[in-house]
Parts: sequence; C-alpha cells; structure tokens
Amino acid sequence: MEYITHSPEETEAVAFELAKKIKAPRVVCLTGDLGAGKTAFTRGFARFFGIEKGVSSPTFIIMHRYNGSEVINHYDLYRINDYDELADIGFEEQIESGISLIEWPDAFMEYLPEDRIVIKITRTGENDRLIITEDL
Ligand code: ADP
Ligand code: MG
Repeated sequence: MEYITHSPEETEAVAFELAKKIKAPRVVCLTGDLGAGKTAFTRGFARFFGIEKGVSSPTFIIMHRYNGSEVINHYDLYRINDYDELADIGFEEQIESGISLIEWPDAFMEYLPEDRIVIKITRTGENDRLIITEDL
C-alpha cells in the first residue's frame, strides 16, 4: 500500500490506521532518512494503543518502552555500531512481546524476525511524505 501525506498529523493518522492491523508480538521496521517522519509515525501508531503523550526519539538511549493496551517498544538504532550492543540491553527478549517499532533497522535486518514488517517513508517535498508498506 502507498499513502501520501502532507503534514505530520496526516502521517500520524496513517500510522494510527495501520496500527489497527498489527497484532503483538511483531517487529515493524521504519526506514527513511533523518526527518522522514519515523518518529511522527511512531507517535500516531502508539496513539492507537492509548499512548497519548511523550513519544519522542530514543536516539540517545536507544529504546523507549510505552505501556498502553499493548506494550510498544520504540528503538532508534542509528548510534548502534555492533549487534552486541543491542543484545546487551536485552533486545532479543524485548521484541518477543509487544510491538517493536525500529528506526534505522538497516544494519541489523539479519537479526530481526522473518515476519517483520517494513514501512518505508520518503520525503517528497517539504511537508510531503510517501509511505510504502507491504500488504498488512
Ligand atoms: P525521523 O524520526 O524520521 O527522523 P521525525 O518524525 O522526527 O523524523 O521528524 C519529521 C519532521 O518532518 C518533523 O519536523 C515534522 O514536523 C516534519 N514533517 C513535515 N511534513 C511531514 C509529514 N507529512 N509527515 C511527517 N513529518 C513531517
Ligand atoms: Mg526519529
């Protein structure tokens, strides 16, 4: 599926709708450059599970966990150099439950479950984004 959005709110709304289709445990990879809207997407996604506030980028601490009607694990792997760093924080156990959204997953795809979902966000204009998902 492809979606075109024209504001962060529209990207959040697309994510909210897609969240309805995803059951835990599941890994969702969010690819796209800096400023594409991966964190905005996560914010809308988390809202579907009743997580209304405080979704921000976990760039410096790698992971945030939110407790809504499902547990949402939100990762930013941009600063991770080696899979061992991820294993050390308990990544393998963490992704076994809840829904895990992963920003910058690209270097670690081989460690992720085969049934992961990949969602690609591309900046096509100042406020325009193209969101591509596989069929959910
Ligand atoms: P990422 O996590 O991919 O680095 P963020 O979600 O943190 O990106 O930031 C996206 C930035 O782009 C925000 O400043 C947001 O306001 C802006 N933006 C503009 N248009 C859109 C859109 N259609 N969807 C998402 N973000 C948008
Ligand atoms: Mg981000």
